Amino acid sequence: MEKVHSIEVEQTTSSRLAQVDFENLKFGHILSDHMLVAEYNNGAWQSVKIVPYGNIVMSPSSSFIHYGQSIFEGIKAYKLENGDVSIFRPNQNHERFNKSAARLEMPTVPAEIFMDGLKTLIDLDRDWVPPTKDASLYIRPFMFATEAALGVHPSASYTFMIITSPVGSYYNKPLRLKVETHYTRAANGGVGFSKNAGNYALSLHPTKLAQEEGFDQLIWTDAKEHAYIEEAGTANLLFRIGDTLITPSAETILRGITRLSIMAIAEKWGLKTESRKVSVQELIDGIEAGIVTEAFAAGTAATLTPIAEIGFQGKVYKLSDPSTREFSNKVLAYLNDLRYGRIEDEFGWNLVVD
Ligand SMILES: *Cc1c(COP(=O)(O)O)cnc(C)c1O
Repeated sequence: MEKVHSIEVEQTTSSRLAQVDFENLKFGHILSDHMLVAEYNNGAWQSVKIVPYGNIVMSPSSSFIHYGQSIFEGIKAYKLENGDVSIFRPNQNHERFNKSAARLEMPTVPAEIFMDGLKTLIDLDRDWVPPTKDASLYIRPFMFATEAALGVHPSASYTFMIITSPVGSYYNKPLRLKVETHYTRAANGGVGFSKNAGNYALSLHPTKLAQEEGFDQLIWTDAKEHAYIEEAGTANLLFRIGDTLITPSAETILRGITRLSIMAIAEKWGLKTESRKVSVQELIDGIEAGIVTEAFAAGTAATLTPIAEIGFQGKVYKLSDPSTREFSNKVLAYLNDLRYGRIEDEFGWNLVVD
């Protein structure tokens, strides 16, 4: 049995809030006043504290630095039209976090630490949730192995933390994506479905090469044949082909909550949806035949970003003008209305922090 944890709160005596320009937020550069820190050792979670944001001290032999036992989540809180603060579907992130933890042989984090800690932290820093258009408070829960020992084995101790950052939009223009047919992000049996630090480390070099060719990001393909579309590495992909909204399915793909929400809305609106294998050839043929009418990336950081062009084997395929895309524009407007509390929350996705 997990024991019941009380959350100790130490408030800052020098808030940095007054220095924040909410009109000009770069992604992830400004961190809010407080952070949550929980320590795990001797087989149990020991302490949960909220303290002023600041540096942490660790041993150079902390095992996550060497062997990568490190996972994270990305969540957003919004300022509702009525002034309340609401977190978007954090239960889903909690569930996914614990799946990532299990795959990396790390302890799970109970709801009384993840969820109650999250609510207490956001309540304390509620004035950090930007009141400005298209802005939000990005929430980063993460956990890493802290045992000071160089042998390769599951760490005996871990730190779970939550930090938050007021952000504007991540991408401000439609994307140019390159289909990657050499490098691999994730293979069956691997860790592609988990949100762990290593998945990002391995993506940096191939992404840089694509950026040197003028692309923004990659479209990852399957490890075996590089013939099937997976995802964009920080966001999931969705395509409207004919009258159907399609998202690639594979065990290697991160199960995005934004994608899940968009598919649920599409179903509610009566659009046909499919989660299935999508070959690169099907996509290219569809673009050439004019039946791929919409394509976009979906993620907490990226929200919904239209794809303008897709590069494949040295050729660039142009998609329709994003401003004319019926479903993408409608669903983005709907999601924003829901998240900012301008319409009824008919799905029950907003967790209002009171
Ligand atoms: C976080 C993430 C996504 C998007 O997931 P959301 O839950 O919608 O934020 C997609 N792909 C990868 C690899 C990710 O890490």
